[in-house]
Amino acid sequence: MKSLDRYAVFGYPITHSKSPRIHKIFAEQTGQAIEYSAQEVPAGQFSAAVAAFFADGGKGLNCTIPLKELAWAYADVKTERAELSKAVNTLALQADGSILGDNTDGIGLVTDLMTNHAVTLAGNRILILGAGGASRGIIAPILEQSVHSIVIANRTVDKAINLAQEFHHKGSITGCGFNDLKNQQFDLIINATSTSLSGQLPPLPEALLAKNGVCYDLAYNNEPTVFVRWGLENHALKSLDGLGMLVEQAAEAFFIWRGIRPKTRPVIELLNAERKM
Ligand code: NDP
Repeated sequence: MKSLDRYAVFGYPITHSKSPRIHKIFAEQTGQAIEYSAQEVPAGQFSAAVAAFFADGGKGLNCTIPLKELAWAYADVKTERAELSKAVNTLALQADGSILGDNTDGIGLVTDLMTNHAVTLAGNRILILGAGGASRGIIAPILEQSVHSIVIANRTVDKAINLAQEFHHKGSITGCGFNDLKNQQFDLIINATSTSLSGQLPPLPEALLAKNGVCYDLAYNNEPTVFVRWGLENHALKSLDGLGMLVEQAAEAFFIWRGIRPKTRPVIELLNAERKM
């Protein structure tokens, strides 16, 4: 009997990852004979663990917190979006034995916003809260949608300014601190800080969200995150969390590995139904 092609997600911690579940459903749906596991890998063991995985016949990996920058450094070749974001969440074994690195987070977010939630990006003023790895991964795919402008606001102001400068050549983008947001309004506010994970909010001025504006928290939970609640309190047309992005970035990784695009909507509906139970 032919053995199944092996894939995995590496992270630290990793026990709560939904990725094995998502990829199992994708595999069933598309008839692909794969197995996908989760492996806890501390940063210090990353290179050895990846090398061992591929040497043992593994075909592809997802890498999550705190390993995306290490995965970027590990990849032999990188896509343009991975190169720009300096972070890799998908590694794929190529026919010539080299390891390709890609970053599917940004396209996952854009697909969730535009396709799943019919949110318009073109011509709109976008605010990204946070200047960490996730923020870095979503900037280029958003700028490619002909947005009016992006402002990045971060607690450590220099990081926001430097990050904006890196993407200057791709569109209108500036960096600032949270205090500089007074008297500004945005059509879409994306929370790419990790504050929701600890039930906190960055300090946000009143009237930050334009009429009919949309809020999107990259974080997700069984309950609405504190930022999703902030959006609702501030009369957002939609206030969304990152579960759809998680499924869409996984679908993009699955496509890179298997050349087949799984249907994401049934998976998002299933995961959403489960957290309402
Ligand atoms: P990083 O650790 O790289 O960055 C964290 C960011 O949060 C930094 O900008 C940091 O600011 C800011 N921050 C942390 N604590 C505070 C605070 N108390 N007040 C204000 N700002 C704060 O994390 P990532 O970028 O990798 O991840 C960010 C979020 O995105 C996480 O919630 C993660 O789960 C989510 N995510 C979701 C994905 C999905 O598929 N849905 C995919 C990827 C990420 P400073 O620079 O000043 O320290």
